[in-house]
Amino acid sequence: MNVTDISSRGATPLDVREWQLETADANRVETVRAQLLGATSSERERHTHSEPYTPPGWKCSACRWIEIKILKTEYDTYLVHTVGHTTVPGETKRVTLDETDSPDEVVELLVLRRQRRVYMPTPSARALAAASAHDDALRDAYRDRAVA
Ligand SMILES: [Zn+2]
Repeated sequence: MNVTDISSRGATPLDVREWQLETADANRVETVRAQLLGATSSERERHTHSEPYTPPGWKCSACRWIEIKILKTEYDTYLVHTVGHTTVPGETKRVTLDETDSPDEVVELLVLRRQRRVYMPTPSARALAAASAHDDALRDAYRDRAVA
């Protein structure tokens, strides 16, 4: 049986396993049993600048990158885990971990709002697209989303 067969019935081919997820509190790790529905990383190997670290206002995914995981727990709730990494001196890693039973809220957690603009960054969109392939409710929420 291939992945498409399983997905089309709304089940998931992904095993429930134990995950240890970093939290915003650097001293605390959350242990959950969950399926990984989708994950992405925006990390790049090549820097986009010649300075040792990315200049202010410059975008370099070798200096700063984000890792996103969308998981489904054994209690059928969704977890959205994001880790914003940085190698720039003076900056610290940013971690968010949110749990919800609403697929619409999963989409909401992945959009950004800046000056009345609502958008979904590419790594978020890719993680959500991957997760949608394994979860019908999430796919519907993603399709019906108000943001492009
Ligand atoms: Zn860089």
